[in-house]
Amino acid sequence: MINMNMLPGYMGQGLLLNLSLHTAQAVPLSEEMTASYLGGRGFGIPLMKDWINTDPFHSDMPLLFNTGPLNNTGVYSSGRGSLVSRSPLTGTLFDASFGGRFAHCLKGAGFDYLSVQGKSSTPVVVKIRDGKATFVPGDQLWGKTTVDTHDALKKDGATAVIGPAGENRVLFANVCIDGRYFAGRGGLGAVMGNKNLKGIVVSGNKKPFRADTKRINTANREILRLFKASPVLYGPFGIRRLGTPALVDVINARRMMPTANFRKTYFRDARRFSGVELARQEKRGGHGCYACPIGCKKTMKGEGPAPEYESVSHFGALNSNNDLSAIIRANDLCNRLGMDTISTGSTIACFAEINGANLNGDSICSMIQDIACRKGEGDILAAGSVRYAKGRGRPDTAMAVKGLELAAYDPRGAYGMALAYGTAQRGGCHLRAYPVGSEILRRPVPTDRFSFEGKARLIKIAEDANAAADSLVVCKFGLLGASLEEYASALSGVIGVEISSDDLLCIGERICLAERYLNSLNGFSRKDDYLPDRFYKEEGSSGAGIDVPAISKRAYDEALDRYYRARGCDSNGIPLNLRGIEG
Ligand code: SF4
Repeated sequence: MINMNMLPGYMGQGLLLNLSLHTAQAVPLSEEMTASYLGGRGFGIPLMKDWINTDPFHSDMPLLFNTGPLNNTGVYSSGRGSLVSRSPLTGTLFDASFGGRFAHCLKGAGFDYLSVQGKSSTPVVVKIRDGKATFVPGDQLWGKTTVDTHDALKKDGATAVIGPAGENRVLFANVCIDGRYFAGRGGLGAVMGNKNLKGIVVSGNKKPFRADTKRINTANREILRLFKASPVLYGPFGIRRLGTPALVDVINARRMMPTANFRKTYFRDARRFSGVELARQEKRGGHGCYACPIGCKKTMKGEGPAPEYESVSHFGALNSNNDLSAIIRANDLCNRLGMDTISTGSTIACFAEINGANLNGDSICSMIQDIACRKGEGDILAAGSVRYAKGRGRPDTAMAVKGLELAAYDPRGAYGMALAYGTAQRGGCHLRAYPVGSEILRRPVPTDRFSFEGKARLIKIAEDANAAADSLVVCKFGLLGASLEEYASALSGVIGVEISSDDLLCIGERICLAERYLNSLNGFSRKDDYLPDRFYKEEGSSGAGIDVPAISKRAYDEALDRYYRARGCDSNGIPLNLRGIEG
């Protein structure tokens, strides 16, 4: 029988922390929030809409750690959470998905979300255990790396901490979860640092009520079967075995590996840092976020997490660097100092182009240190590539959309990815939609990667599906095997109400529209949905029978028009029907 005092799948309350006053207050979860936005990224809409015009470094700016209805229910790959605020790097509403155990433990402590506001006058650590929050001095930990801070706090539960980059408000500082997972993009670590919040530790043994465990188990069996049937996940070159660097060979072979700050799309030495090469330097086996059978995370034989594909590619090809040991060092430094590897690698590549610098592994690592400590030129680079390039009179060299540096897929090699970079509401991101799945990995169906035909609708639907996944919260890699159908069945089992994949897509659509609307309140519109001019003017590295021409801006414009129509926006990219979001 359903416990009517608590909506199944949820803990029924959020926790508001006021760092200025060092107070904590539990607040009930509204039915409107769960029904309209599910959780995770979706909760960012109602919890952020009153703060969307606030400066990210104003003490009132909320920093949200959100869980979803599938966290802590045993559903496969549901160990992730969502960190939400307004990005100091992009100025957009921003959510960053994170792994580890933190989301699981936050629900274990009795909360569906944590909202941190205010600013402590001195460094502080917040410990949350079984529904109670205590504020302890963080002075001893200030200045320490993410790993050292995690080590100091981990005995008390799952951790979310910042490193020196967050303390120094580097605009692409990240938040480190459990010492080795990262809420990486958008600089939300700087928002945390601005609040003088060094870390949060959370623990507890509570469990959300689950309405129908038999149905959950059936859905789980199907999810696992589909994971195992997916070559991308469980194949001999899939991410379970090789981690995400499995992509190095295939992306380079397709001549779409961003090289020399996106001036080329092929890196001759990429084999030196392929997934197979990297695997030789990793410990055997993998591990993963809570409740994930895929376990795509790898560990170096030396120490620390192995780099992801994006980090390998950006500290490698993007910086014309073929030294695998330097790539591993650069990745490790970013992790310890608490900086997003994509924005760091891209900002350094922008610096190299402007200054005509030939960087080697040592100079890349020394620049990473300087950025995190805001030393010398590092102080200017800490503002990201767009501000740096503009300040140096070379805005054409910043490879970013809406201020967020592009990921490791050159858009000239996959036109769906080009459109997805442009329309992504948090900036040049590959995780709002991942058309590389169909354009390169041929999953679920192959599409022509050098054509915009059919891509507008495909991107719109993928954005909706990913918004739903980010709100459940489940790992988007899971969608390379299972589909929303299986997760809808799992959710139906958890909450005891029949939910279909179409229902989830509807919620995802509502979230995407709301994000677009909230960003429009800060002036974002069609003008912000374009790629850097380089991609419309310069061709990529053709060869081996593959032509990589510049993208036709006219064709991109037409695809953008089609996307706006599919998304329900006017020709300026503003939503036509806000369905109550604006209220
Ligand atoms: S696939 Fe990888 S990133 Fe996703 S939940 Fe599993 S371990 Fe975490």
